[in-house]
Amino acid sequence: MLKYFQLFFLLTAVAFISCNQFSNSLNNISKRNINKFTVALMPYKGFDTTLLKEVLKEIEAFYVCNAIIFPANDLPENAFYAPRQRYKADSLLLFQKQLAKDGIRSVVGFTAKDISTSTPDWGIFGLGYCPGKACVISTCRLQKASATTAQLKERLIKVVLHELGHNLGLPHCTADKECLLTDAGGTIKQVDNERKWLCSNCTQILHQ
Ligand SMILES: [Zn+2]
Ligand SMILES: [Zn+2]
Repeated sequence: MLKYFQLFFLLTAVAFISCNQFSNSLNNISKRNINKFTVALMPYKGFDTTLLKEVLKEIEAFYVCNAIIFPANDLPENAFYAPRQRYKADSLLLFQKQLAKDGIRSVVGFTAKDISTSTPDWGIFGLGYCPGKACVISTCRLQKASATTAQLKERLIKVVLHELGHNLGLPHCTADKECLLTDAGGTIKQVDNERKWLCSNCTQILHQ
């Protein structure tokens, strides 16, 4: 009899635990508004993840979407460009694109390592498909001119919103120099001069 009682108790406990897990996962799903697309932020190992919470909020507010944080990944070895000791951004995008599953609209990679384009090899702040499902941002060059933490955050947020704009189909903007989609051309001053804002041209393209 005692054995039966123990078994019953065990089964009840298992049922309770799995029920609890089920309701937890329901809660997580309901937190994500199904009418909005979802962006995943993916830090590469070594990136200061404390910056991501703020970035997440800014993305959600700016593009009216859901944002989640993926676990950190190692930088893929095949992306390393030994002659310049930095990482090829287009190889990182190929890697991240594969992680854009289960309805994820875009995977945004974050690294503190320097990244560059392929031809010619040119150090950059970020790169994103236009349109597409992956973009990557490096804080290496955003720390230039001894940026304070507040400045670094502001620059990071602007570059993320710029690259995500590319993913959503926005090309570079020539209509207004303060528009976020203006090509920074590797100049930190341009990033600083931009506002966290899209001009009417870009807003129109985004809503087409
Ligand atoms: Zn761009
Ligand atoms: Zn614009």
